[in-house]
Amino acid sequence: MNDLLLVINAGSSSIKFSLFENTPSDPTLLYKGQMEGIYVTPHFTAKDASDKKLVDEDLPAELPKSHDTSLRHILKWLDTVTAGRKIGVIGHRVVHGGTRFSKPELVTPEVIVELEKLIPLAPLHEPHNITPIKIMGELLPGVPQVVCFDTAFHSGQPELNQLYALPYELSLKEGIRRYGFHGLSYEYIASVLPQIDTKAAEGRTVVAHLGNGSSMAALLACKGIASTMGFTALEGLPMGTRTGSIDAGVVLHLINHLKMDAKQIEDLLYKQSGLLGLSGISSDMRDLEDSGTVRAKLAIDYFVSKVVREAASLAAALEGFDALVFTAGIGENGADVRLDVCRQLRWLGVEIDEAANKVRSGEPRRISLPDSKIAVYVIPTNEELVIARASRACIAS
Ligand code: ADP
Repeated sequence: MNDLLLVINAGSSSIKFSLFENTPSDPTLLYKGQMEGIYVTPHFTAKDASDKKLVDEDLPAELPKSHDTSLRHILKWLDTVTAGRKIGVIGHRVVHGGTRFSKPELVTPEVIVELEKLIPLAPLHEPHNITPIKIMGELLPGVPQVVCFDTAFHSGQPELNQLYALPYELSLKEGIRRYGFHGLSYEYIASVLPQIDTKAAEGRTVVAHLGNGSSMAALLACKGIASTMGFTALEGLPMGTRTGSIDAGVVLHLINHLKMDAKQIEDLLYKQSGLLGLSGISSDMRDLEDSGTVRAKLAIDYFVSKVVREAASLAAALEGFDALVFTAGIGENGADVRLDVCRQLRWLGVEIDEAANKVRSGEPRRISLPDSKIAVYVIPTNEELVIARASRACIAS
């Protein structure tokens, strides 16, 4: 029976996978795992749906280090645990859909050509999303593949929120406009919000996806109308190693006066900045919270202040908001960050329940006081489930 759904989320050095059972209701997770350090020391881990670790091992050193080897290894392992059951569809996370893709699509040779045209829009991510599609096409020929885009959720934003004040032709002809990312995460939040808070689901919600990569989005009746990320995943909030928004004049200064070239600037903006750059210690929020140094505190304070300012900016786009949702690694687990953000949004009507905020749980939960004008929630995201659902729907249609 071809009743399994495989979800692939591939990056430059890692491939994450989730295997779902295609049950009549929602797809049900069976296994998840990842291959990390693909080109250094490939390390394979896998867990079952209850989070029990089933594998935790380095790949044999004599194997070639590649996405191809890693995907073969993942499939081989899946074969051992699924006892002959077959994969009926493969869903891939793809970072950039450009203006061409505003919904999930079945992979065809034409789609691959179109995806390759988008590489200049996301050179650090898109190639690593495309490679596994090609490899899986060879390893499991005949199994349909579906691409799901991080930009798609934002494609219905009003034009005003998609533009930069550059000559208009650059948007039309070159696609230089604001796309927004983390859309699969926002889509998951939008899919569960109606069961958690009907008023917010029908009204105005600000979602803060705070992880290694961080962004925020404004949802009106569960549709994205504004986001902090733009043309690339660099704009908006500071992140683990990315700057977030900076004056474009800084880039000109780096070129003209510090004589840096494009590669050096790319490295600076994407890999050496953000929490790491400000703290000089780590890109990981937990390390900064544990460290207690002045610069670690500065980095956390900067991060919090930008979350607060972006929340207010998105609130303006929504003309107020009914709910604030925290999600992703920091949003789901960083109680201190949530507390600081909520305290600084008190003037807007956010009243955090400090005891509820401290509770650790993998379930969606409310962390604001009953009389808070704005309801605050922690909702664990599930991008893989969104991809599984979309892939199934795509082949069914
Ligand atoms: P990615 O964008 O790679 O998916 P995640 O969503 O997993 O990232 O988020 C990773 C971030 O979450 C890291 O900065 C990590 O420190 C932070 N994080 C995880 N657990 C906690 C915690 N208990 N307290 C504060 N931050 C946390």
